[in-house]
Amino acid sequence: MMAVFRSFQFVRGNYTLLSRRFYGSMSSKQGLVLGVYSTEDKDEVKFTPYAQKYNESTAGKLLEQINICGPVKAGQARIFWNLGQYPAVAVAGLGDASKWDELDEIDGAKENVRIAAAAGVRALAANKLPEIVLEDLEHPQQAAEGATLANYKFQSFKSADKRTSLPSVRFADDASGKEDWQRGVTIAEAQNFARVLMETPANHMTPTIFADTVRERLGAAGVEVLVHDEAWAKAKGMGSFLSVTNGSAEPARFLELTYKGSAKPDEPCVALVGKGITFDSGGISLKPSANMDQMRADMGGAANVVGTLLALAQLKAPVHVKGFVPLCENMPSGTATKPGDVVYAMNGKSICVDNTDAEGRLVLADALCYASTFEPKFILDIATLTGAIKVALGDCVAGVFSNNNALWNVIHEAGSQTGDRVWRMPLFKHYSEQMCDHGGYDLNNLGKGKGGGSCTAAAFLREFVPKGTPWLHVDIAGVMGDCSDQSYTGAKGMTGRPMRTLVEFVTKASGSI
Ligand SMILES: [Zn+2]
Repeated sequence: MMAVFRSFQFVRGNYTLLSRRFYGSMSSKQGLVLGVYSTEDKDEVKFTPYAQKYNESTAGKLLEQINICGPVKAGQARIFWNLGQYPAVAVAGLGDASKWDELDEIDGAKENVRIAAAAGVRALAANKLPEIVLEDLEHPQQAAEGATLANYKFQSFKSADKRTSLPSVRFADDASGKEDWQRGVTIAEAQNFARVLMETPANHMTPTIFADTVRERLGAAGVEVLVHDEAWAKAKGMGSFLSVTNGSAEPARFLELTYKGSAKPDEPCVALVGKGITFDSGGISLKPSANMDQMRADMGGAANVVGTLLALAQLKAPVHVKGFVPLCENMPSGTATKPGDVVYAMNGKSICVDNTDAEGRLVLADALCYASTFEPKFILDIATLTGAIKVALGDCVAGVFSNNNALWNVIHEAGSQTGDRVWRMPLFKHYSEQMCDHGGYDLNNLGKGKGGGSCTAAAFLREFVPKGTPWLHVDIAGVMGDCSDQSYTGAKGMTGRPMRTLVEFVTKASGSI
């Protein structure tokens, strides 16, 4: 019980709250983040409207000071002291949105704001300013996202006196777009929650602790949280899911989450399914020991589903969403599933488990079957599923497989808006044949051919989605941790990506299909 209690404390207790209390008596030490654009003329300084006013309040001294060193470059921040109302002002470079190439598929103006807000917050935090105030940067939601994601540090297991105090971050009272700012904070804090779930060591984030943590945090936000046990899964015929937990001493759990924000009580739900392997050793098909610790985050899909539902509930989004999260460990032991074992999924299909390390698809198979019993508008599953997706796409974009072009278009656009992009991958019959063309059973959990591991994994999952159900599968193994492309999320640690894209997608897609 002790472990459970301790884990609750740090997941629930927001790390920034501690620092707010700590600095409560020093609130006069405030820093302000202002934005400045790049222009064609390299020597010209173009302020945001808010920054322009601030400059006027300093009788033009801020501009004078900036001009001494020249314009602030995109994504960089420079601090000026004792100019105007705030003792420290960080001027952050917003660059020129037109510099984003069309092929980058990103809304450059919004992305530049996230990057600049993060740079401003980090510069002031590095100078120990305990309270940071941001202007709207003409995109308050994105300013809040960049600031909140940058103002994050996982240090739950450090002694209290060794922890870095994070500053508090708030919106300037006289800036415009307070509601949008708050929306950005809500979404980014939900992503930070997903990051904590992923980052927490596996001995402190077992299936039971994960379920209890979600019940507490999402329950408080108005999401119904049902925690099913192994007996329930057995009664449902989830032999594929349960085969993965065979080798573990930790009991499996299956979360069923419901958020009903739609005004129409009978509206079909959107189903989100997330892979929740709280530790993946590979099982009997044991992984190499190098970097195996990363497998504490093999529940990144589950963390994304949980974070998305949390954000939607807090935003009071007018949607009906259900989340399905199979949670277990994949461990080797005398009771573990052996390569070559055949198990049955909820829809009656038999699966030969050729490689026990391809376990994500086994837990998702039953979760997809169960989700489809609710006759959802569409199903989106998300998983740290294959190393092959990282080989294909690197660490900057998630792969999406979909049987529905309209849904693909919505998620594609959502990714360009949030800065957390997705790229479409194929669902060709060729891959299905590699998974399904066998003599003694219906499916093998390994493809017959060489290469295309992400595509064969998606083809496997497709066998558990009823015909006619619109479906997307998102493979996030490439973007789960240590991503080099988003400065505001940081280059190290688990990311909670692409949760903001899911929030945007569900909000838009729910009404469009
Ligand atoms: Zn695995």
